[in-house]
Amino acid sequence: MSAPTPYIVAENVCKSFGTHQVLKDVSTHFNTGEVSVIIGASGSGKSTLLRAINRLEPHDSGTILIAGVPVTDDPRTLQKQRCEVGMVFQQFNLFGHMSALDNVALAPRRLRHLGRTEANEQALALLRRVGMHEHAQKYPWQLSGGQQQRVAIARALAMQPKVMLFDEPTSALDPEMVQEVLDVMRELARGGMTMIVVTHEMGFAREVADRVLFFDKGRIAHDAPPAEFFNNPGNERIRAFIGRMS
Ligand code: ADP
Ligand code: MG
Repeated sequence: MSAPTPYIVAENVCKSFGTHQVLKDVSTHFNTGEVSVIIGASGSGKSTLLRAINRLEPHDSGTILIAGVPVTDDPRTLQKQRCEVGMVFQQFNLFGHMSALDNVALAPRRLRHLGRTEANEQALALLRRVGMHEHAQKYPWQLSGGQQQRVAIARALAMQPKVMLFDEPTSALDPEMVQEVLDVMRELARGGMTMIVVTHEMGFAREVADRVLFFDKGRIAHDAPPAEFFNNPGNERIRAFIGRMS
């Protein structure tokens, strides 16, 4: 096997909100084809790191590289990078006045300049991939939370991203809908997608992750393959956290 190539690199990334430092010299990398799961207490900076990768939240210092290119405010670079980085949020944020199909087809039409027929065909194929093709004409209000989140995943995939960021994608769902979303994510991982997943789903982390990172107060306190991470969690804080989540 060839050595893993880092697709996203963070070097000494710092971010504060006012006097509150939320990211403290975060340095890490996310390799092509790997699934990295980020866990940690609420407020530890997990979302801020994902948002900084997408420049939804500019970092104060340090460097974030996507495929070797720094994340900055340069609009052309940023637009290209945002096409390469798909993001799925806790709140699915589908457009309420559009069908599932149109939600998925919109960005390819606008940003990849596909014609309606081609965009719709591709959108339908993506909805099939997440098990939602039979609901293509429905509006978000006609869908359950789990179904909406699966449409949101298809929508992110429609830009043909190289990496997918998931920020607690199942945290807003009723318990009975969590698995259908995790199943879609598991399939994506099996297909070789590079993924960074913030989640409290320890089962998913154990089964699917190549690496588990533990965030503690703005720092990466532990970073290990899941078997090692869960069998030997490093310190008592991590052990206690895992205990609460499992
Ligand atoms: P996590 O995702 O691990 O729960 P976040 O990255 O969302 O943590 O937030 C880390 C800290 O930064 C929290 O204390 C949060 O209140 C604060 N924070 C996040 N976003 C903002 C913001 N836009 N303005 C001020 N404080 C923020
Ligand atoms: Mg968060």
